[in-house]
Amino acid sequence: MIDRTRLAQLHAAEETTFRELHPRSAELAARAHGSLLAGVPMPWMTRWPGAFPVFVDHAEGARLVDVDGVSYVDLCLGDTGAMTGHALPQITEAITARAGRGVTTMLPGEDAVWVGEELARRFGLPAWQLAMSATDANRFVLRFARHLTGRPRVAVMDWCYHGTVDESLAVLDGDRVVPRPGALGPQVDVAVTTAVVPFNDLDALDRRLAQGDVACLLMEPALTNIGIVLPEEGYLAGVREITRRHGVLLINDETHTMCAGPGGATRAWDLEPDLIVVGKAIAGGIPAAAYGMTAEIAARLAGPMLGHEIDVAGVGGTLTGNPLATAAIRATLSSCLREEDFAGAVPLAERFTAGVAGVIEAAGLPWHVQRLGCRAEYWFCPPPRDGAAAASAVDEEIEAFFHLWALNRGVLLTPFHNMALFSPAHTEADVDRHTEVFAGAVEALTA
Ligand code: PMP
Repeated sequence: MIDRTRLAQLHAAEETTFRELHPRSAELAARAHGSLLAGVPMPWMTRWPGAFPVFVDHAEGARLVDVDGVSYVDLCLGDTGAMTGHALPQITEAITARAGRGVTTMLPGEDAVWVGEELARRFGLPAWQLAMSATDANRFVLRFARHLTGRPRVAVMDWCYHGTVDESLAVLDGDRVVPRPGALGPQVDVAVTTAVVPFNDLDALDRRLAQGDVACLLMEPALTNIGIVLPEEGYLAGVREITRRHGVLLINDETHTMCAGPGGATRAWDLEPDLIVVGKAIAGGIPAAAYGMTAEIAARLAGPMLGHEIDVAGVGGTLTGNPLATAAIRATLSSCLREEDFAGAVPLAERFTAGVAGVIEAAGLPWHVQRLGCRAEYWFCPPPRDGAAAASAVDEEIEAFFHLWALNRGVLLTPFHNMALFSPAHTEADVDRHTEVFAGAVEALTA
């Protein structure tokens, strides 16, 4: 349906425009190659569209401005880290005040207590711990789950993403568990550490957990890292029943699904996980994450937590829960990501979804757009039921073209997603600008 020669020509023209628009970024990119591996501070940054990454100057509200002075409607929002909108004055103020009073101390402060109370209130689990990133929090809960159950494996969904957690970088190849493509240098064979099941498949989950070797199931209540794959009616209730029956701890990773509301999908859909992980947005972009647990798990962990050797288990980390991070979480959760904030952001995501769906339908393309709260994403297939179906529809050529086309027209999408995230700082005009740009790309491709 898509003429690939035409796509390649259009893409080449966009690359030329990109270079013309970004001379200062080009200079910095060239310089970066002198000291940074591949010219970027971390590997995935090579995956931004264009011949080099756009270097950022500043970001405020729903806008990002690059070093060439080009301004963007930011639909990436730091891939959820800035879901509140950028540089909110009250968060800036709190961080600045804390920075002048000591940033890291190895001691708790009152903010840490406030944070525990607020997380308990929002998510309904009573006991919390802090971490530096959602990846870290996931690592820690997997460790605790193995400790508590005495079982060696963790279960994850096929084509999930939970950060750079070795055990979770696994997919199914038929019945076999194999490393996810791109998972470099696994420490051990993932088939030894991990059970993988397809999303939305209760029979497969039941069969796998019946083997009795799985400590926990780590999952997003809706997949958000391979497009958005929503749970079918009754699926999450089935997951809870099956995990309970097999004595498997259920961990909801709400790092992204926090877009569903102030207490994530857990509260929005009345879920009953044993543990919850949150990260990214909770500190307004300052590195911080947290994990919560039931009273029963907290009671069982209290013993080991008091032990003389607790700090050798790799749970925590020196900078974790530092006063700067806790001040940032407090400032964020006391003034953002509340019911009233979602009431502003969700209708924008709905408007985005309606606009994109209209373009897809008018063009007669077999694509879809999906939404969860203030997050929306389009994908180049009809709505998939599981991660493997979504993964098989990845079309890197079209995706790269769309991203670059949008970037060249002042709209920033999230790399390795076709994701748009909305904050109360966005406007209907921002949404409509994307719809217009998206329509232009589709028209250019299909004319
Ligand atoms: N969990 C989920 C569901 C995520 O999407 C991600 C990152 N995209 C992470 C965990 C890891 O977050 P971080 O990279 O901040 O550690």
